[in-house]
Amino acid sequence: LLVSAAGLAGVAGEGGGVVIGIADITALRAAQRAREDTMHFLSHDLRAPLTAILTLVEGEGGVPSGDGKNAQRLLRHARGALHMADQLLRLSRAEALDPARFRELAVDMVVMDAADEVWALARGKDVLVDTRIEVGEAQLPALILGDGELLCRALVNLLTNAIKYSPPGGTVDLVLSAAAGGWAVAVSDSGPGIAPEHLPRLFRRFGRVPSAERRDGIGLGLLMVRTVAERHGGSVDVRSAEGQGSTFTLFLPAQPS
Ligand code: ADP
Repeated sequence: LLVSAAGLAGVAGEGGGVVIGIADITALRAAQRAREDTMHFLSHDLRAPLTAILTLVEGEGGVPSGDGKNAQRLLRHARGALHMADQLLRLSRAEALDPARFRELAVDMVVMDAADEVWALARGKDVLVDTRIEVGEAQLPALILGDGELLCRALVNLLTNAIKYSPPGGTVDLVLSAAAGGWAVAVSDSGPGIAPEHLPRLFRRFGRVPSAERRDGIGLGLLMVRTVAERHGGSVDVRSAEGQGSTFTLFLPAQPS
């Protein structure tokens, strides 16, 4: 039990008082511990053997040692599980972000870094990432207070999805522009889009859109993006229509001057 008490001073000669608050935090603590245990398991215990499996199966120089179907399956599952552990680890890092430790950084640089990170993935899928900084020279650098690494990771998540759902030969637009009180980074694709009834679940924990294909994700990427945005005092928004592609926009408040 958490018991808190606060004294109230009397006003204009009237009597004072005491407020006592009682809350049951046992359940809260247990839930928090369960979450920490899961995170620890996934980020350490699960990750270590998976990395070992990958090293064994991939062999020297990234070439699988055998071309048997089982080895290929093993490789695919091991990669999937490692991806899952990484996603959870990044989400927990985002949840632990402490704004008191933020530094001054330029969003335009973060945008360029994220574009660099997905370059090989985009090329492999024959998708062009068209990066544009649509902010006047006088306004650059686009300064904010934040965590550059997690912001970059959030943008990489949006870009990876956009590339993944783009048709071969398609273009993904990555655009930085000025927005009210800050900056907007928009990632647009010409993929299948998302039906309106599925939009509300996208940013929830394990919130995947049901579909026959594509079972390689676990629906944590967009939650991570939302968590990073909110820790920066910003937000993330999606506009999408079936058959007409999707645009995810990250809003970040400018550094207070
Ligand atoms: P996952 O790791 O499963 O991909 P995300 O949180 O990144 O999880 O995405 C959640 C779901 O949102 C995906 O399963 C997919 O159905 C949908 N989605 C995300 N980005 C796009 C996009 N650019 N186009 C179409 N669907 C998308």
